Amino acid sequence: MSEVFADLVGQDEAVDTLRRAAAAAAAVLRAAGARPDPTGGTGPDGDTRPGPDPGAGMTHAWIFTGPPGSGRSEAARAFAAALQCVHGTGCGTCAGCHTTMAGTHADVRLVVPEGLSIGVNEMRALVLRAASTPSGGRWQVVIISDADRLTEAAGNALLKAIEEPPPRTVFLLCAPSTHPDDISVTIRSRCRVVPLRQPPPGAVAEVLVRRDGIAPDVAEWAASAAQGHVGRARRLAGDAEARARRDAVLAVPRRLTGVGAAFDAASALIEAAEAEAAAAVAETDAAEKAALQTALGAGGTGRGAAGAMRGAAGQIKDLEKRQKSRATRAQRDALDRALVDLAGFYRDALVAALRAPVAPVHTDTVAMARAGAEKWDAEGALRRLEAVLECRVAIEANVKPKIAVEAMMLALWKG
Ligand SMILES: [Zn+2]
Repeated sequence: MSEVFADLVGQDEAVDTLRRAAAAAAAVLRAAGARPDPTGGTGPDGDTRPGPDPGAGMTHAWIFTGPPGSGRSEAARAFAAALQCVHGTGCGTCAGCHTTMAGTHADVRLVVPEGLSIGVNEMRALVLRAASTPSGGRWQVVIISDADRLTEAAGNALLKAIEEPPPRTVFLLCAPSTHPDDISVTIRSRCRVVPLRQPPPGAVAEVLVRRDGIAPDVAEWAASAAQGHVGRARRLAGDAEARARRDAVLAVPRRLTGVGAAFDAASALIEAAEAEAAAAVAETDAAEKAALQTALGAGGTGRGAAGAMRGAAGQIKDLEKRQKSRATRAQRDALDRALVDLAGFYRDALVAALRAPVAPVHTDTVAMARAGAEKWDAEGALRRLEAVLECRVAIEANVKPKIAVEAMMLALWKG
């Protein structure tokens, strides 16, 4: 395995910050270890904050921001590995690095919200466990992969922990931005921000070739089509179904020949997103349900069985609620990916109409984008691009996807 920061594509500045902070964190541990500690506990560690080299900026709460796919959670995980690294560098080879990157380190917890938000109970349980002494003797690290999906109550529980941090606990939050819609101002004020940028396609292609062994021409196409989203680029390069779904989305503009066709295209887009989401969650759903049924034991008849059954019904209901929330999120994510692809197409048409010296997003539909540009002019291309972006905003604001997509398709047809 290579060094933990190696795959953070095009993020040199952020990596530099994180490396220095990891070194400072290691110095904090060394200083604490060198001093006699009569209690044998972690008490004196609090005194060492912010560490022997305050300029290097090790602190206990961080926010990683950047557009989707820029690698926020990857950056947070790499930093967690560097904190657990026995060399304090993120060497990538020691047990601390290795287990953190593999997701099995006992002192690193990753919270990935499955539904539309992270609830207060989940957050309280997490904060409680995060306060314990690190079993590996270094840091307790909590990574919250979509901190913008915290409920208000969960945010308050987290804020309390960040305001009075246990001496060896580090919180790593990931969010699209530090806008108050994404992260509360009070949490923001307690955290150091690591901004990540959208990696350039060239850098994404390079990592696909080097790390995933993808052929250079495929990597270049995928990196451009994914618009800087590293994970999406890898899927497009390696997954035929993902490519087929993208092709279907990019065929939409030439199918919009009338009102009926617009409604048909809307239904098709929604159904494709639902099917993709259902396939994505089916395996987990079935496994969870089977595990719960096993845990509850099926069909007991003895004393107490009736009470146990009532408890079981509640647990099954909870699980179903969680699974439904996760399915909704998966559908929205799938639909949003389709809309981003579609926006890329109209953006290419706009670029063609303006004859701007800018590389196209979708290199394989350039001819179609040019044909569109001739028919619509720059204004028409821009109106269509705006219709797609408005649809994304509407869905994020909880407008029913079907209604938002139908309105968008009609706007794309009429111009
Ligand atoms: Zn290491």
